[in-house]
Order: sequence, then structure tokens, then C-alpha cells
Amino acid sequence: MIVTVILFVFGTIIGSFLNVVGLRWNAKNFGGRSRCPSCGKTLRWYELAPVLSFVFLRARCARCKNRISWQYPAIEILTGLIFATVPYIYLPVFCLYIIILIYDFRHKIIPDSLVYSSVILALVFGSRDVIAGLILFSFFAAIWLLSSGRAIGFGDAKLGLSIGLLLGTAAGFSAIILAFWLGAASGILYMIFSPKNITMKSEMPFAPFLVLGAWLALIFNLDLLHVSLF
Ligand SMILES: [Zn+2]
Repeated sequence: MIVTVILFVFGTIIGSFLNVVGLRWNAKNFGGRSRCPSCGKTLRWYELAPVLSFVFLRARCARCKNRISWQYPAIEILTGLIFATVPYIYLPVFCLYIIILIYDFRHKIIPDSLVYSSVILALVFGSRDVIAGLILFSFFAAIWLLSSGRAIGFGDAKLGLSIGLLLGTAAGFSAIILAFWLGAASGILYMIFSPKNITMKSEMPFAPFLVLGAWLALIFNLDLLHVSLF
């Protein structure tokens, strides 16, 4: 129990670092200390504590009082949960997945450098199930081709390859099914609760759902298609 708590806290610290990497990836000012995006002031130590700063500062910058994005604590908590539940060997790949999630959420595209690195790490630390990787890649590549790139991006196919290599057929296929369920549920909620009239045409990043699906399929050892029976 205490180990799980320590892993969670450690994960939130890593998550706060991954937030910075994900937000600054491919940006010119990659280095340097963290600043408030509104007033540009360098953040002080007590403004940098994962999750806690957000809660104690009531989601506002201590100086300019502008709202701090909910993305920061959300990613920190997610990373904490992943660190507390995922076997250690998978953590390097999941750190990359979280950066991909952040980047795709913001820019609606998955950088090749990140997804290919995750493919290599999945080959080193994962199930090394090449067949599963190729099936998931082909599945997404087919959707990409048939929809002329409108339904999903080609980056999702590369991420599918990575997830297949990492998790193998049973959990890998389950991750994809979960991703579609989560995506559909979020799409419906988004349409109901969004202030403006937004149709399904507005592009929705899919990598966040793939990453969440991969996490859940792994920790619950899912086999939604009963692949292991064959
Ligand atoms: Zn500020």
C-alpha cells in the first residue's frame, strides 16, 4: 500500500515534467524554467508542486490571477495512477505515450519522433508481438485510407503498431476497442455539454483514447475479443 502511494506521488512529479515536455515539444523555447502562460512570470517553488499547487492556488496564477489549465493536474494525476498500477518495465513507453497524448490533444497530430521512439521501446520492453503490431497498424491504416485521412490520422496507425508490439494481441485489440468506446462516449458528452453547436466534424484527437485504452487493457489484463481462446 505504502509503495503504491509513493509510486503515485513519484508519478505526479514525473507527470508535471511530462506536461512541460509535451507542451514544449517542437517549440523554439524548449529549455528554461516554467512560466505562467498568461503573465510570463517565472514560477516559484511553491507554484510547481504537482496537483497541490493547483488546489491551493485555486486554479489561478498567484500573481496575474489568470486561470491555470486543468490539463496540468489532470496529466499529473493520470501519470501518478499509471505509475502506481503499471509494471515498471512498461513505464518508459507509457511516459512517451503521455507526451504523445498531450501533444495530440493540443495539436491534433502525433510527432514521428515520439511515436517511433515508442515503437522502439515497445520492441525492447513489450510483448514483441510483431503480428499484433502489424494487424493494428493495418487496421488503422485502412481506416485512414478509406476516410482519406478524415476519420483518423496516419499517426494513429503508427501508435497502433506501438500498442500491438507492447501489449500483444489480447490486450492490444482490447485497447483499441476501449479507445473507440471512450472516444464515442467523450464525443457524445462533448456535443451535449459544449457551449457552441459543435458537430462531429470538429476534429477530435484519438491518441488520448488509445493511450487510456492501452493503460486499462494492460492493468486489467483485458481480452475483449477472446483472442486467447483461439
Ligand atoms: Zn500569471
